[in-house]
Amino acid sequence: MTHTKPDEAYFDRIFIEFRDTLNSLNKELPAVSYVAITKNDPYCVLISTLLSLRTKDDVTLKASVRLFEKADNPQAMLKLSAKEIEDLIFPTGFYRTKAQRILEVSQVLADKYGGKVPDTVEELLALPGVGIKTANLTLNLGFGIDAICVDCHVHQISNRMGWIKTKTPEESEKVLQTVMPKRYWIPLNELLVSYGQEVCTSVSPRCSLCPENGQCPKIGVVKSR
Ligand code: SF4
Repeated sequence: MTHTKPDEAYFDRIFIEFRDTLNSLNKELPAVSYVAITKNDPYCVLISTLLSLRTKDDVTLKASVRLFEKADNPQAMLKLSAKEIEDLIFPTGFYRTKAQRILEVSQVLADKYGGKVPDTVEELLALPGVGIKTANLTLNLGFGIDAICVDCHVHQISNRMGWIKTKTPEESEKVLQTVMPKRYWIPLNELLVSYGQEVCTSVSPRCSLCPENGQCPKIGVVKSR
């Protein structure tokens, strides 16, 4: 199948189609987006993103809610022990390491930034355990700063649809910046994370539910439903 370079009208169409499909499946907001809306605080976005790594969305959301009921700022977090945090965030993946990281991050924020979260990618990346995905999502949802946050779903769907041809999420982030109109940078993550969980799943995507079935080149898809 031939594939033309996507333009703005193309992305308009994709965003509307994917949103409509998710609405029809009653798909809820990703956990970190929910935290961003309900807490409206970069610290909670940052911590919730750390909790979300290698963890299912519903587990992340419940762990975030439990943790933020006890502590939703660095000073309050530092009053909790690692064991207390572990108990609150269990069963997120690597919960022991995450509890330690949460304390380390909170300590740096308290010591160096007066309890506030910095708003540059360089400063965020210097925090313990914070990688590019976490940094970008914090800028996105915590501060409303344009950044393309690329996780495994964004990376996979962008490649399947032929928007980009990349090997790693880091590479995808750079190439997507050249392909995607800026106004889509922030909503892209939320849309494609949900779409990747419900429709364009990693193993055997549900193409029969997808409005792009027939036009999508499905690059790298071996088996679909
Ligand atoms: S057609 Fe299939 S592979 Fe392409 S975006 Fe839709 S679900 Fe994913």
